[in-house]
Parts: sequence; structure tokens; C-alpha cells
Amino acid sequence: MVRVYLHDVTKVFSKSVIALDHVELEVKSGEFMVVMGPSGHGKTTLLRITAGLEEPTDGDVWIGDKLVASARKGVFIPPKDRNVGMVFQNWALYPHMKVFDNIAFPLRIKNMPRQEIEKKVKEVAEVLGIAETLDRYPRQLSGGQQQRVAIARALVKEPQVLLMDEPFSNLDARVRVMARAFVKDIQRRLGITTILVTHDPADALTLADRIAVLRRGVVQQIGLPSEVYDKPFNIFVANFIGDINLIEGFIESNGPGVLFNGGDVKIPLSEKLLEALDERSSVVLGIRPEDIVLSREELQVGDGLVNVGRGVVEISEFAGGKFNVMVRMSGIELKVVSSSSFGIGDQVNVYFNMNKIKLFNKS
Ligand code: ADP
Ligand code: MG
Repeated sequence: MVRVYLHDVTKVFSKSVIALDHVELEVKSGEFMVVMGPSGHGKTTLLRITAGLEEPTDGDVWIGDKLVASARKGVFIPPKDRNVGMVFQNWALYPHMKVFDNIAFPLRIKNMPRQEIEKKVKEVAEVLGIAETLDRYPRQLSGGQQQRVAIARALVKEPQVLLMDEPFSNLDARVRVMARAFVKDIQRRLGITTILVTHDPADALTLADRIAVLRRGVVQQIGLPSEVYDKPFNIFVANFIGDINLIEGFIESNGPGVLFNGGDVKIPLSEKLLEALDERSSVVLGIRPEDIVLSREELQVGDGLVNVGRGVVEISEFAGGKFNVMVRMSGIELKVVSSSSFGIGDQVNVYFNMNKIKLFNKS
């Protein structure tokens, strides 16, 4: 397999539309990279530039040790010579062609002999579990099966790189979970270098070896799913990858130690937490709903739990095996995911898991 390397890639569509802004992204050989970001923030453009369907305005694209695009050096290798398979967002199956012919299409373009085409199509259909659908039309298949046809068509050429553009967005929730597991399994078995783009953090967290977060064409952070989730570089990343409570305040000294002063919540902090901050006068503290513990009684605190005050339960709803609770502490509302249920109006002690607290400069 090969690595994919986007070096300082910029794509300008017009003065006001900079789809990618100095993107630096290295996908290791065999790695599953998920690029996530909101709609309109450059994800599809990144894939299209990698596939050769779009030329970068600036920067270089490498596939393996081959420079496939470079604005400055005037290099541009067309898609058919890049050895890349792409699954488009709407799958782009040809409705008038049977599944077999849909999958065979990229091989026919290459003028592969008929017998070889038949062998390869059957092989890939077998791997993807759609061998029995080859004689049908796409409209006769379920959404999940259609998706597999699209993946089969991308893989039939045995590409070195697989690109997938929001492959689960057309599937309903139940099918999506299975489709994710399926894609992960195929990717692992083939060991193919993969870039999947999505706006759905669940895709990123479940599939990725590493995640890259895009905002307005700028890479915000690249890291392991656990790193991006637990140690987001900024508020945008923190918010985008999962639910988080954000409390504005400032840092003040408190005798020998330091304190986060968020008005209604005051939390002693270790100096170490402050290392990432540029300044201390305008700070946002982030804590995820599952990192807050509520209790009617006083808890024996250990495990990094700190009592940050008392609150009143405003909402407590069952969410299948857990409860989504909303707690008000004076002027602050906190979302909490709790294993136990509470009654509306319950007075509770509120504990933060100090190991999970995040501090940001207000940007
Ligand atoms: P995403 O896939 O994250 O939704 P895109 O890469 O499709 O984002 O688009 C990024 C930005 O580039 C958007 O503002 C979009 O409108 C713009 N854009 C994409 N393709 C073109 C194009 N061919 N011409 C002009 N603008 C485009
Ligand atoms: Mg897109």
C-alpha cells in the first residue's frame, strides 16, 4: 500500500471561496483517515483533489512516491492514472445498468479482456457480499446493498487508495451502524489506505485510525480519535466532535494555587492545565456531559472528582441505559449524562472529573 500526502494544498474557487487553505495532511500507508468538518468546509474538494478530479491552486499531492499534482511544477496526473478508487456521496450508480455492469465499468474503460472482467467483478462482489445481486438493477437493491455496489466499483480496479465521500449519509440510522462496521472490516482486511470524509462525528470516532478536523478549509487538528475527543485543540474541535459544556471565566491566583473563576462556578486547577493557554483573562472551560457526576448525597471524592457546587435538576430524560440530565447552578446550565435518574427539582451536588477538564482561550 501507499501513503497519501497533501503538502500545503490550497484550492481557491473564487476570491471569496477558499475551499482548502494550506492543508497539510499525511495519510500513512494502510491507514484509515477520517476527515471531518461541517458542510461546505472543503471535504469533498479535498477528495476530488486527491482523486485528480480537481487541480490544486497551490501545493503538492503525493500518492506513494509519485508526485501526482503540483501547481508550481506544472504536474498533473489525470484520475485514471492515479490508482485511486472513489465512492461518491450519492453513490452515482448508473440506473440503467445492472449491478454487474456498474461494477465492471471501470475495467471496461481500461479495455480489460472480458473473462478477466468477469473474474474480478465476481471476486469483489463476493468480498462485499453482493454476489447474488449482480443480475439486478440498482433500484431493486436496498440502500445498504447499493452502497456496497458503489464500494465494489471503487475497489474492482484494486486501487492503492480508497476515497469515500460521506458514504453513510444516504442510509438510515439502523443500517448505518452495520454499514460502518462493514466498511471498517473491509478496510482492515484489504489494508487499503483510505480517506473518508464526513460531517458525522460518530463516523469519525468509530472508523478512524486518525481524524483530521477541517474548518473553512483549514486543518484544525489531526490525531487519534481519543486525542481529538479528550484533548481538542480549540473550542471548534471540542464542540464538533461531541457534546460539551462551555463555561466562560478567567484564571485567578488562589494562594499558592490557581482557580478558574466562572462566576457561579469556581474550580481549583493544577498549573499544568494552564500550559495550553495564551492568556488567563478570557478563558473557556469545557467539560463533556459524561465527565460530570451528580449526587443527592455528598460523595467521597477521589478519582479526580471535585465538587463544584450545588444545582437543581431541570430535566431528566431516559435515553436508553442512561439519562440525559440538565442541571442549573445559579446562572449556568449544565448537560450531564448520568447512569442514574433524578427527579425534576432535585437538589444535587455537582462534581467535575478534573482529568477531563479542557481549557481554551476564547477565540
Ligand atoms: P464539503 O464537502 O465540506 O461540504 P466542498 O468541498 O464541497 O465542502 O465545498 C467547499 C467550498 O467550496 C464551498 O464553499 C463550496 O461552495 C465551494 N465549491 C466547491 N466546489 C466548487 C466549484 N466547482 N466551484 C465553485 N465553488 C465550489
Ligand atoms: Mg461534500
